[in-house]
Parts: sequence; structure tokens; C-alpha cells
Amino acid sequence: METPKTKAITRFPPSPTGNLHVGGLRTALFNYLYAKRMGGEMVFRIEDTDKERSKKEYEQNILDSLNWVGIKVGEPWRQSERTEVYKGHLKKMIDSGLAYISKETPKEEGERAEVIRFKNPNKKIAFEDLILGTIEVDTTDLGDFVIAKDLETPLYHLAVVVDDFDMGVTHIIRGQEHIANTPRQILIQEAIGAPRPFYGHIPLILAPDKTKLSKRHGAVSVTQYKDEGYLPEVLVNFLALIGWNPGNDREFFTLDELCKEFSLEKVQKSSGVFDVKKLNWMNKEYIKKLPKERLTELVLERVPKDKKDFPSFSQVFEKILPIIVDRIERFDEVTKMFEAGEFDYFFADPVYEKSLLKNTSHLPKLLDILGGITDDNWNAAGIKSAVWDFATEVGRGEVLWPMRVSLSGREKSPDPFTLAEVLGKEETVRRIKMSLE
Ligand code: GLU
Repeated sequence: METPKTKAITRFPPSPTGNLHVGGLRTALFNYLYAKRMGGEMVFRIEDTDKERSKKEYEQNILDSLNWVGIKVGEPWRQSERTEVYKGHLKKMIDSGLAYISKETPKEEGERAEVIRFKNPNKKIAFEDLILGTIEVDTTDLGDFVIAKDLETPLYHLAVVVDDFDMGVTHIIRGQEHIANTPRQILIQEAIGAPRPFYGHIPLILAPDKTKLSKRHGAVSVTQYKDEGYLPEVLVNFLALIGWNPGNDREFFTLDELCKEFSLEKVQKSSGVFDVKKLNWMNKEYIKKLPKERLTELVLERVPKDKKDFPSFSQVFEKILPIIVDRIERFDEVTKMFEAGEFDYFFADPVYEKSLLKNTSHLPKLLDILGGITDDNWNAAGIKSAVWDFATEVGRGEVLWPMRVSLSGREKSPDPFTLAEVLGKEETVRRIKMSLE
């Protein structure tokens, strides 16, 4: 069905009536991948004919979101700038009897007394969907549908068909919610003499409860995922696998790799599920493999400012980075942990609650042992092996718990050996002495 020899021109035509939705990003992604794969390009169009609901800030959000994930688009076409073009087509259609001005009886105040309707030839249309196969529709049921309010105000179907024609679009890849629009658009194409593009209607994205993905399931806009601390390359990888698969069980793909692998033949017919657990897992896998520099940057930008003001911050941060990273699936958790005071004990003396320390009777002996560890061996493994036999002998909990609490002051913290390594020998000894007092 696919013809790699023809350069595919796909399109991404969002309506700027809200921030870019993850479903919208997936549509953009499939169009982008397909165009790349077929040596063509994806054109970008802003469908802003709805003047009340369209906003510049949403247009900006859509662009920012695409940029963030690495989908490059050129200057957008704007429907609001093409009124004259649509008008020309409308006039021609009216002159040749393919459309007509229709007198309406307004049912409510403010309703129009006149609209422009398409003269439906009432026929059977069949089109080959690259994903769903042949789809047949009798257009009689559609009636003479409205294509413009007046010459200056075209509606969606007309504008889309004219634009796709003028932009040389060869492949229309869009959500299955648009299937019902396709017969109307084909009729208009035939009326204005536009060639019929290929269609591929991609499966919907559902929430795990199999209903439409919406705010009540969590984040829906790309910006929210960015803010929550998902990596852009993860969102791309994850979304590509909703409704598409490579034909084997490979799960990790960069955008470039997807550009080579993607095909419409492997897009499934049935809806896909947006599984946040899988997204979190994937984000974690990517985080584990991030180069140190980028990781540092991503974690640092999530650390609250007042924590960065601790004099020893940079010195300690370097050491605790692995501890932080070990505990997170998304970067907003960094902020939450710091805000909960989780790492405060690395920067300032802990405050002890007596009841938390429990039994301190083994601490003097512990101090002896720690004192005997050489600087070379002062690391989590070295400290553990020095302390282990004694702790095993008198009871591990009896030694390790008070050790850990005297270093952190907290009910929960990393293990005492890691704490001791990060704090250094001098500070470790000082804190244990302090807790004895
Ligand atoms: N502007 C439409 C939307 O955002 C896209 C229509 C189309 O792909 O034909 O849903």
C-alpha cells in the first residue's frame, strides 16, 4: 500500500484552542515520522478560523511543545490569513452550482438568515484507509452540509480541503475521530478538482479505564508532562508505541531511530492505552542512562533556592546526586523531597528527637571502630565492612539504627554507611558524639 518512491507531504494542523494535548503530539509525531521515513516533510498549519476560541498563547504553547520534543516545523500557514483564497473557491463553487446560498429560518436570535451550503451529489464514496482498509459511505445521509457562514467565513471542511490542496498534502494522518469528516472532505475535493490524498486514521488514545483520556486521569498537556519532569525523548518514545509497534518487542527508540523504523503498516486499528506506570518506568530507565552533566542540570533546576543557599551545597550536592537519582522516576520528585526536608541533614546539624535515637549504648564502641578506619577506606563499603562484625555481634538494629539517626536525625534516610561516606569522617564522628550528649 505504501509507495516509498513518492515524496510524502504530511501535515499537522492543530486548532490553537488549548495547550498541545499528548494525543495531539502523538498525531504530530506520526505525521513527522511518516514524512521523514518517506523522504518528505510535514507542513504545519494553524487552524484558527474560530476567532473566539483561538489564542496566540496556545499557538505558542503548541510550537514550544513541538520544539521541546525535537519535532522541527517551519513557519506555519494560518487559516486566518487565507480568507481571500477560500472566498475565491466559494465564489467559483457558487457560480458553477456546486454550492449555494441558502436561506435559513433563524430559530434563535442572532442566528444567520443565510449560510453557504454544499450541493451534495448524493453518491457512494469509497476510500482506502492505509490503516483501516476500505471505507464506504453513502453521502446522501450528509445532506447539503454547510461549508461557510458567508464568503468571508469558511468552516472547517472547506478550509481544510483547500489548504491540503494548496500545501500539496499527499497523506492525511489523523485521529479516528476524524473519520466521519472524510466523506465530506472528499466531496469538496472532487468539487474543486483537488486530487485525493491518502488517508490513515490512527487509533485513539484511551486512559487505562478505557475511557477517553481526560484531565481526570492526570496530566493531558505536553507542558504538564514537561513540568512533572518527564524527559522529552521519553514522551516521544512512549507515545510512538501507543498504536504503533516495530513488529518485535524492542521498546527503546530515539526520534531519529523512529524516523527510520516507522511505518503505517504497523499502526494498529484498535485504540491504545496511555499507561502512566509504563511512562514512569521508561522515564526511570532513561534517567539511569543520562550523562552526568545533563543529569546534574536537570536535578539542580528542581532544587529549591533556599536549599541552594546552604554554604556547603555544591560540595554536598555532588556527593548526593546518585542518592537523589536513585529515588526518583520524574524530576519533580526532587523538589518534593527537598521541600520535605529530606536532605537537610547533609547541610546542617540534625535535630534529634530522643525517642527516635532509641538505644545509644553501643555508640561509644562504634566511635572507636570508626576512628580506626583510614581515610582511604572511608567509603560506604569500607565503613560497612569495619562496622559489620560488631553490629552482627550485638544486634544490627541496635547499632545501625542509632548510627543512622545520629547522622540524619530522621526516621527515614539513606543507609548509615552512605550517610557516613557523604558526611566525611570528621563530621560523622562529631555527629555521633553530639547525639550522645
Ligand atoms: N484542526 C483539527 C484538529 O485540531 C485537525 C483536523 C484535521 O486533521 O483534518 O483536530
